[in-house]
Amino acid sequence: MSYIPSNERYDSMVYNRCGQTGLKLPAVSLGLWHNFGGLDVYENGRAMVRRAFDLGITHFDLANNYGPPPGSAEENFGSILKADFAGYRDEMIISTKAGYLMWPGPYGDFGSRKYLISSLDQSLKRMELDYVDIFYHHRPDPNTPLEETMGALDHIVRQGKALYVGISNYGAERAKEALTILKRLGTPVVIHQPRYSMLDRGAENGLLDVLEEAGVGSIAYSPLYKGILTDRYLNGIPQDSRAAGKSVFLKPEELTEEVLGKVRKLNELAAQRGQKLSQMAIAWVLRGGRVTSALIGASKVSQIDDAVAGLSWLEFSQDELDAIEAILKG
Ligand code: NDP
Repeated sequence: MSYIPSNERYDSMVYNRCGQTGLKLPAVSLGLWHNFGGLDVYENGRAMVRRAFDLGITHFDLANNYGPPPGSAEENFGSILKADFAGYRDEMIISTKAGYLMWPGPYGDFGSRKYLISSLDQSLKRMELDYVDIFYHHRPDPNTPLEETMGALDHIVRQGKALYVGISNYGAERAKEALTILKRLGTPVVIHQPRYSMLDRGAENGLLDVLEEAGVGSIAYSPLYKGILTDRYLNGIPQDSRAAGKSVFLKPEELTEEVLGKVRKLNELAAQRGQKLSQMAIAWVLRGGRVTSALIGASKVSQIDDAVAGLSWLEFSQDELDAIEAILKG
């Protein structure tokens, strides 16, 4: 059935500016790391992209290696774009990345100019796009000079294959160096993509300060800690959950009694706020305005509904924040 986006799609979504740049992103963005690959149900992924767009989620995040198999999430997303969003490209912010292993040999991994430029060309083909909005270097490369990697990002923008660039998984110091080079080159760098959630607070060790100083935005990935910061695992491991599935990125062993004990207490606190835990977890990463967007994943349409509904209550009292800190400290 042909898709006509909701006329109300911009009525309630919150859009935040990416640092001090011209780009705004929705407070919740959708990532296609899991559940959009060649082994997943295509129509389910398609329904999630449609619902997301209907709710004002304009930003869709991909990477060369998302699948499985690697590349298949981009292919599926390309098909969805072609089938449903042909007239809406200018209303969408589409990102992709390169930095992890994508093809065999010395040119399909890390951060060389050769890898980044070839990889984006492949991504554009898979998605059947002329350009992406944001192209990221996916992770720091200890062996390639930063000048080369950042030079490749700069080149890609000048080629017209990306409008903006970003970096992901860079620590505070390396991020500062990378941003300095990009600013010197005049490259439009708008964003850093760190992992950040109540259960993973590495970004607070200087990174968010570096970004704020540089006027660059941030998009927090895995804000639900891959699903653990939700009510998903409160009564065991559901059959259709990521922890029960084939993903190597969430093993049942991660669901220790210690973690689940904290999750139960956080769930009670969220209930006192009149929210689901997933909604409180998203509000928490967005608190204080330092994070531009919470980059969630989803396996069903209802999870996208939950995330967006939660945006109606983003405020925290100091008592609530203190209670969260106490729970996290255990
Ligand atoms: P989340 O922490 O948001 O976890 C998403 C998972 O949580 C869903 O797949 C679902 O799991 C569960 N979930 C979501 N909403 C709900 C809900 N309302 N109730 C119960 N369970 C819920 O993020 P991801 O780990 O999926 O990462 C999000 C995105 O971040 C990726 O798609 C990717 O774009 C990006 N990313 C970037 C990385 C990088 O290196 N730059 C690395 C990792 C991710 P279930 O399947 O069990 O239903």
